[in-house]
Formats: sequence, C-alpha cells, structure tokens
Amino acid sequence: MSLIYLDHSATTPLRPEVFAAMEPYFGSTDQESNSKYGNPSSIHGAGRAAHAGLSEARNTIADVLGASPNEVVLTGCGSESDNAALRGIALARRQQFGMNRIITTPVEHHAVLYTAEDLRDFFGFELTLLPVDGEGLVSVEELGQALGDGSDVAVVSVMYANNEVGSVQDIGELGALCRELGVPFHTDAVQAAGKLSLDVDGLNVDALSASAHKFYGPKGVGFLYLRRGTPFHPFLIGGSHENGRRAGTHNVPGIVGMATALALCEAEREAEMARLGQLRDRIIGCTLESVPGARLTGSITKRLANHASFTIRDVEAEGILIALDLAGIAASSGSACTSARQRPSHVLEAIGIPVEELAGGLRLSLGYSNDIEQIELLLQRLPKIIDRHRQSMPAPL
Ligand code: PLP
Repeated sequence: MSLIYLDHSATTPLRPEVFAAMEPYFGSTDQESNSKYGNPSSIHGAGRAAHAGLSEARNTIADVLGASPNEVVLTGCGSESDNAALRGIALARRQQFGMNRIITTPVEHHAVLYTAEDLRDFFGFELTLLPVDGEGLVSVEELGQALGDGSDVAVVSVMYANNEVGSVQDIGELGALCRELGVPFHTDAVQAAGKLSLDVDGLNVDALSASAHKFYGPKGVGFLYLRRGTPFHPFLIGGSHENGRRAGTHNVPGIVGMATALALCEAEREAEMARLGQLRDRIIGCTLESVPGARLTGSITKRLANHASFTIRDVEAEGILIALDLAGIAASSGSACTSARQRPSHVLEAIGIPVEELAGGLRLSLGYSNDIEQIELLLQRLPKIIDRHRQSMPAPL
C-alpha cells in the first residue's frame, strides 16, 4: 500500500532537484578537487565556492520577494525567524524611540504568540491581541482601532496564512495601514511561502518569516526578510554573519536547497495551486456531504489552495488519525506542533468552535505528490473510518 501523504502543512518531502542542488555543498573526500564544503567566511577556494553558492541562493530568494539581497537574513527555521522579528524589532524600537506595545492575533503560531507573551512577561511590553472573526480573519478596522495613532506601538505581527485552519489574511491592506502610521509590520509567511505571492512591496510588509521544509526544501533552515531601515536588535549574537543580524556559520547546503525549492515553487505556483485547489474543493464538498457532524474550519473563500480542515462532532482526533494511518493515509488534527499534546487548539478556541467539537480537529493538507485517485481513495475510506470510530467510542455516562 503506497502512502497517501496529506500532511504537507506539517512538513514536505525534499524534491529530488533540491537534493541534487545541495549535494556538492556537503562535500566528500572523493570530490575533493571540486569541493564546495568550505566555510563561506574562509578565504581559500573551498570557502569561496561555498560563498558563491550562498550569494546565489540569497539572490534567488531576494528575487522571489522583490527585495534586495541584503534584506534577506538567513536563519535556522521559521520559529527562529518569528522570534528574531518580534524580539529584534520590538527591543530596537523601544530602545530607539520608547515604543512599548506589541499587536498581534490570538490565532498566530506559538512561535509568534509565545514570543509576544514572553516579551510581555519578561521584558515589560504591553500586548494587544486583535479580535478575529469565525474564520480566523482580522479586519482592517479592528487593526486601525488597536493602532490608534500608532505612536506607542513597537511592532505589529499578523500571520499570512493560518497553519491550522488555512485562512489567508489581507496582508496588503493591514500592512498599508501600518505603513501610513510608520509602524513596522511583520508577517509569519511560513505556511504561505511557495503557495502565495511573497512580493514584499505588494504586501506592504517590513518583515516576513519563512521556513524551507514547508516548501519542499530541507528542515532546519529559514529566512527573515527585513526591510532596509527597519530597527532591529539581533537575536543570535556572536560573529558578524548576516551583516551582524544573525551570528552563526551558515548552513550552506540547507540555504542552497531552500533557494532552489523556493524558485521551483514560484515558477510552478499558479498552475500547481489551481490543480491543488480543485482537489481541496473535492475534499471539502465530499466530506461535508458524507461525514455527519463535519464542519469546515477557516474561510471558504480566503483559503490556502492546499488546505482542508474540519471539526468532526463526537470523535477524538487521535483515534481517527491512527485509523487513517493504518489505512495508509497521513493526516493531522491541526498543527503538528500541538498534536502530541492533548489540549484544545488555541486557534479553534479563538474562532469560537463549540467546546464539544474541539477534540475532533482534522487537517488534510495537499502537495506535489497528491492526485485525484488518491483523493477519491481518501473520500471512500474517511466516512467508514469515522463511523467505525464512533461506534467504538464508549457511550456517555
Ligand atoms: N509559523 C507557522 C505558521 C508554522 O506553521 C510553523 C510550523 O509549523 C512555524 C511558524 C515554525 O516553523 P519551523 O518548523 O520552521 O520552526
């Protein structure tokens, strides 16, 4: 039985082209005459070869963003990019200008939400959480009210696309408002990268986080776009890498792989998202029709093309996921980061899902390897699996 992998929001497989691009940068003894494994800060040939790969990768990423290469800060993952953006901008703005308030939303990934709470609890910032509607979306009006004249706000952070419910925010409009008031605007684009435009001028963002393993690149590498002139205090301190904005020897193979993956996704983005959107709509339509008690979470119209998410009444996600796994289907209850912990999702709570449905989250996230045959198999198996699971559950006392 071949695997039907429907957990691309958790991570994606490395594309073979990406692996091929990375390979020379690992180096090996039998390749010594053509080695690129040097430290890119070294002066010798192996270092210069690594540096050339690093520069090319940075240029490729900058091109996709419509940015200049020195506005790209290479990091170790999406979480690091989020941490660095919030801490870096908030601390610098407070030190330079005295701004002491952070604005974000209750549906952010914990990499943003817990960082904002940490800045509140350990660094004395004020924290404003914007209200979200039943689809997890923030309105420009609510942001306007929270900002006021913006004079006390250090940074605003609103995620581009939600990992649990797939909703896509109007980042361009929210960013335009921040820009009018001169307040730096960060977006967590970890789920959006490779699927939506990352044109930083169109999005009106000053900072944007991404992570390679969500778009067929390697794990453990990411980037932070930082608009020129944005106040920033570095999060990792040590060497002068990344123009003093992030210390640490570069993960050259990882960075080359990330750039290759991003460029491939960007080139194929429109056609691939149109294809996946059709598969997604088939999953949503059929699941709502054939699974009693299923509810779509997130937006119907403003939604990632590869993302279908539901709550299913009177079931426990874990049981469904194990049964799906036994049937050769890899899915998730919501975010991979919270699925191992038995506590309700903060996103589902924030969008007002009734308490009796919180245990039954199901996320099916599509990618490159999925086709309509796989989706029809899923749709045949899912209602039966849920039915059997319900029958096996103990009756309420
Ligand atoms: N932000 C969002 C929206 C995510 O979905 C994730 C990972 O699931 C992260 C940040 C963290 O990214 P990483 O796994 O690269 O640390």
